[in-house]
Amino acid sequence: MASRDARFDGRFVVAVTSTRVYCRPSCPSRTPKPENTRFFGLPAAAESAGFRACRRCRPDAAPASPEWNVRGDLAARALRLIAGGAVDKDGVAGLARRLAVSGRHLHRQLMAEVGAGPQALALHRRARTARLLIESSDLPLADVAFAAGYASVRQFNEGIRAAFGCPPGGLRRGRTTAAPSEGGELVLHVPYRAPLAVGALLDLLAADALPGVEEVTDRMYRRTLRAGEAVVSFPDPLDTPAATLRLSLDDLRDVGTAVQRCRELFDLDADPATIDAALGSLAHARPGLRVPGCADGFELAVRTVLGRARSAEFAAREGGIPDAETLSIHAGDATVRALARAVCDGALSLDRGADREATTEALRAIPGISPWAVATIAMRALGDPDAFPADDPRLRRAARRLGIAADKSELIGYAERWRPWRSYATMHLWAESE
Ligand SMILES: [Zn+2]
Repeated sequence: MASRDARFDGRFVVAVTSTRVYCRPSCPSRTPKPENTRFFGLPAAAESAGFRACRRCRPDAAPASPEWNVRGDLAARALRLIAGGAVDKDGVAGLARRLAVSGRHLHRQLMAEVGAGPQALALHRRARTARLLIESSDLPLADVAFAAGYASVRQFNEGIRAAFGCPPGGLRRGRTTAAPSEGGELVLHVPYRAPLAVGALLDLLAADALPGVEEVTDRMYRRTLRAGEAVVSFPDPLDTPAATLRLSLDDLRDVGTAVQRCRELFDLDADPATIDAALGSLAHARPGLRVPGCADGFELAVRTVLGRARSAEFAAREGGIPDAETLSIHAGDATVRALARAVCDGALSLDRGADREATTEALRAIPGISPWAVATIAMRALGDPDAFPADDPRLRRAARRLGIAADKSELIGYAERWRPWRSYATMHLWAESE
């Protein structure tokens, strides 16, 4: 904290008991006395302990804690599902059902692990979405309340005051950038931890982009979503590294989820300093390379099974990849049909809340899915940072070229040093093999 080191932003926050305010570790304000500080892993935990976000360093706007995306346990899965909007959609009971535990157990587990229960975490997400909309759009405040998921304007006012210590109108007056939103399009700024290998990441996305669904250029990515359209672009960073996200949504209530999908698609919560240090020389050519995620886990799985050419053909015919219900009946490909059935009957969930081990096991049991496809789905749909498709000839080719391994078993052995970041190592090797 004394060195104002921004690398620790998002990993924890510092609450000051004398002011009831919490800050990023790098806050430029005067460093508080040690006896007046309390540390929390997540902003939501500081908020549920009665602290509000500092207006100067905006700790709630830092990229989310990377730790929880790495872990595969119950608390981490719950946090990822809540970030995706699970509580707003299905309530705490629905979230608990999805995780196959009781609501009480889930609450206890989250309190013990992160210091905030599911309801408090959902409230924090709502306030964070609302602030994003207040500051980056010209939406009337009553519409912001509705879009962020508040049941009433009164709840909205109370929620914003509790989280930020001022009413919604105060946040709008205090915003530093004019909102360039126009014609129903929302323009939002989504922060990430530098560095970010933008070009290499967009190349990876371009390599299997679906014509008619996605478009990739050297600094921009556009795709249709079930809820509308998203365009993500990477302006040269000014003082803070952030992607620009333009959203056109049919229903504004989807904004929180759409922002989260885009964070996942570009892996914006990752901690490149830690990952690159672990990968060593492999990361030197492309510092900050991320593992691209996906906008929809089932769609990604179908595309991975079919391969690029057949996916493109299919998408051109159907106007995109149809949903699981349709494909469980009409898919011509037996593997895709089996995959769709497993998703429809609830045997398989292809999102960040899935149990990674059980899900990859279930995927392996579907006839016709290659180990390479399972690893790709684990990396991109489940967000597993440590999947490794050792069977992929591109990996072996890149490994030979870099002189790190001559064959598959040597590569598997060598890759041990990249744990728990072998998904990131895979991206570096893929980028190398292009
Ligand atoms: Zn501060």
